[in-house]
Amino acid sequence: MAISVDAVIVGAGINGASIAFNLAKNGMRNIAVVERFTIASGGTGKSAAIVRQHYSNEVLIRMVKRSRDVFEYFDDQVGGSAGFVKTGYLFFVPEYVKTAFMENIARQEKLGIKTSTISHAESREISPQIDPGDAAAIAYEPDSGYAEPYEATVSYLKAAKAKGVRVYQSCPVQAIAVQSGKVVEVQTTKERFSTPIVVNASGPWANKIGKMVNIAYPLQVTREQEVMFRAQSPEQSPKLTVSDMCNAIYFHPFGQDLLVGRGFPKEYEEVDPDNYAEGSDPEFVTETAERITRRIPAFESAFILKGYSGLYDVTPDWHPIIGAHPEIKGFISVVGFSGHGFKLAPAVGEWVAAMLTDQHVPGADLSPFAFDRFSKGELFKAAYGGNRA
Ligand SMILES: Cc1cc2nc3c(=O)[nH]c(=O)nc-3n(C[C@H](O)[C@H](O)[C@H](O)COP(=O)(O)OP(=O)(O)OC[C@H]3O[C@@H](n4cnc5c(N)ncnc54)[C@H](O)[C@@H]3O)c2cc1C
Repeated sequence: MAISVDAVIVGAGINGASIAFNLAKNGMRNIAVVERFTIASGGTGKSAAIVRQHYSNEVLIRMVKRSRDVFEYFDDQVGGSAGFVKTGYLFFVPEYVKTAFMENIARQEKLGIKTSTISHAESREISPQIDPGDAAAIAYEPDSGYAEPYEATVSYLKAAKAKGVRVYQSCPVQAIAVQSGKVVEVQTTKERFSTPIVVNASGPWANKIGKMVNIAYPLQVTREQEVMFRAQSPEQSPKLTVSDMCNAIYFHPFGQDLLVGRGFPKEYEEVDPDNYAEGSDPEFVTETAERITRRIPAFESAFILKGYSGLYDVTPDWHPIIGAHPEIKGFISVVGFSGHGFKLAPAVGEWVAAMLTDQHVPGADLSPFAFDRFSKGELFKAAYGGNRA
């Protein structure tokens, strides 16, 4: 017999977890979160989880501002910890984006983000390990940092469970039944759920779920590598979170180590999410070592500890698809976070839950994320060109 619920959330990544918690907080508690493998086993578990606030579009700035606040005050807002560390954040950019960069900072300040441009000397004072050398401009956000993606996801789900939400792991969705234009049932390998609402929060697997209701998202799944370094002595390692567009890398402290990933501008490596190389490529690791050494000279002698790969779910404008589909009542997409969806998840959960429970969140506006923006040609614009959201 089918278990009757008010909503099924497909995927226990950070977005599914945040939506589940916020739905329950708004009073919709009879919910099932179904996860094909284990909690945070998708993009979330491999995330660098940087929580920076440098965005170009107003709606994203509002989203990330709210999300950062939730991360910092997670125990009050959700319960438990998201492992957020307020390290401060530096952003180094080259000459060709300087004008757009200055405009963005002005926009962010107007919307209440604590950010400013700083000089090379100020950068050295904030982080003496980092050589600001070639940067044409530098921004500093004292309130930003990084979080712990497993901890954040598990904490959200623990708080959701305390409100009555049920979480099913090792429980892949196999089919979604639609009758008279409405979702009615979700079939998994373990249980069958009758439900009027299905939230597709399945990250890189979004199109497999979409296909069950005849939706094809314009998504590419890409492989993204990260490398962990250890300085020869701890004082050589920066304690800050950094985006470095001059060297196309980002990094943040990870215990005594430094987690380094490849930032914009970057190449795509499209893969099958069920069959990709989860390790790292030797050329990638050595090239990353060269790039980080250009920014932190002492890293010439750093140890390379390990490399690994995760998945991005990338849309044509590098922004997510969030919202309902008029032709399939009850089916909600929350997919395509394009490599920057960890830091947005608290607001995504609040805004999606408000939409589904007819509540109002000041400043919330999901309309720019609609699926039909691609057919209408209303894509988000990339302030720095290419793929930096
Ligand atoms: C290397 C790397 C670095 C990143 N760095 C950052 C960063 O610094 N800052 C930032 O904000 N973002 C970053 N991101 C992006 C961010 O991590 C993702 O956008 C975010 O975690 C996506 O969360 P999600 O919940 O939407 O999807 P996911 O975490 O992918 O979760 C989807 C879940 O759905 C499950 N699922 C799939 N199919 C089924 C099915 N049939 N039935 C049931 N469940 C199913 C999957 O197993 C998975 O657990 C990074 C990502 C990677 C890979």
